[in-house]
Amino acid sequence: MNVLLVYPEFPDTYWSFKHALPIEGKKSAYPPLGLLTIAAMMPAHWNKRLVDTNIRPLTDADLKWADVAMLSGMIVHKQELLHILDRCRARGLQTVIGGPVTNSVSELPQHADTVVYGEAEDLMPELIDNLEHGKPKPSYKAAELPGLDKTPLPDLSLIHTKYYSAMPIQYSRGCPFNCEFCDIIEIYGRKPRTKTPGQVIAELDQLYDLKWRGSVFIVDDNFIGNKRKAKELLAVLADWNRRHRRPFGFFTEASVNLADDAELLEMMKDANFTRVFMGIETPVEESLKEAHKMQNTRKNLVESVRRIQSYGLEVMAGFIVGFDNDPEDIFDRQVQFIQESAIPLAMVGILLALPGTQLFRRLMKEGRILDEGHGDNMDLRLNFIPKMNAQKLIDGYRDILRRIYTPDAYYERVLRFLERYKSPNHRPRVFSDYIALARSFIKQGVFGESRTSYWKFVMKAALHYRKTFDTAMTLAVMGYHFQTLTRMVLDSE
Ligand code: SF4
Repeated sequence: MNVLLVYPEFPDTYWSFKHALPIEGKKSAYPPLGLLTIAAMMPAHWNKRLVDTNIRPLTDADLKWADVAMLSGMIVHKQELLHILDRCRARGLQTVIGGPVTNSVSELPQHADTVVYGEAEDLMPELIDNLEHGKPKPSYKAAELPGLDKTPLPDLSLIHTKYYSAMPIQYSRGCPFNCEFCDIIEIYGRKPRTKTPGQVIAELDQLYDLKWRGSVFIVDDNFIGNKRKAKELLAVLADWNRRHRRPFGFFTEASVNLADDAELLEMMKDANFTRVFMGIETPVEESLKEAHKMQNTRKNLVESVRRIQSYGLEVMAGFIVGFDNDPEDIFDRQVQFIQESAIPLAMVGILLALPGTQLFRRLMKEGRILDEGHGDNMDLRLNFIPKMNAQKLIDGYRDILRRIYTPDAYYERVLRFLERYKSPNHRPRVFSDYIALARSFIKQGVFGESRTSYWKFVMKAALHYRKTFDTAMTLAVMGYHFQTLTRMVLDSE
């Protein structure tokens, strides 16, 4: 059996980092961990080929070679996935699709022969058996959430690590919180399930043996969903990293209550975590309550961000406008918060009602859902009727982007962040590649539209932040992606 695993190309969103990756000399942020893990569950006698279309195009020769195509992705990949499925179908190639997208896109059964809903661990034996006998079912649905102790090491033989900016590892699935707009808790549940520290170490060993050095992304939606277990893992991670002379710097996603736990922060610092993404969403308490985001209420959020930054963790954060309780001045308040908290990489989006979420169900009941949505929270098409005038919301959103991603506002945030940032002692050099540095100088400093601001920033960083110059330049390059994309959004009327 020849199995073709296909991962769709990312559209141009903040998360794709498409405009920064060429400067870094990479083609994609990270490889498709879900497909690599599925591949590891397949029988040894199956031939496997992975086409990550972020790296190279899917060819007719690939389709001709395959007996079955297996696809995975998220709602943001919807259009690309439907296109690939239709291409397979036109050639009579059998198709199977799984991944988070199956939770959000209802038309998949019209395009794919088989749709796999939920996590694969318990379903794979039956699917494999049915495929071998030429009788796959139209759908498979996991009866329960599997324990992650069953999850094998991803099959990294299917990729070339050199094309990617970071390598992914998953430690846990699920989150104990209850945010109304979140689909993670609907798909993976509210009781975090974790791998054993031994499983994670085996993944690190695998990466190390493949000669990977640099960033490792722990892809969990909330790494600290179970703080006790996270601490157990961190002790082991720190020890492993020290014994191997710190080849890896980690980044992950975590809830804001990370700021309340000094021991956890110290342990993350010790294990060489360098960046954390968190959903701050809004500085407006009433909107947080509306979104059931209680873990962000009753605290000074700017203070929380500062505390995390002081442990050598750069904070990247998500912000949302469009809540029912958003006041008229929400746009100014978001800009003020983002500048004050010195969060360089602020992902601001318009609220999206993702299918399958509590928010979608509430708005459906209220007769306010317009369509399933597109999964891209930078897309200016609303999929629900907001309380605020829709045009006012879109204009206000664009105004936030315009203000926070002007080069001067962006570099001001980075400099403010560097001022309070205590760099970990043995931070791996993300920007160790002098060719990448030269690319940044040429692309941003010679041909960039914001040359003057760029050079002013580089000079300041070189003069005042020599110890963290690496971080400064990494943020300058990432800023280029955000500034380019923002310009594109603002130009699209
Ligand atoms: S904290 Fe994050 S992952 Fe957890 S429920 Fe809220 S949005 Fe979802």
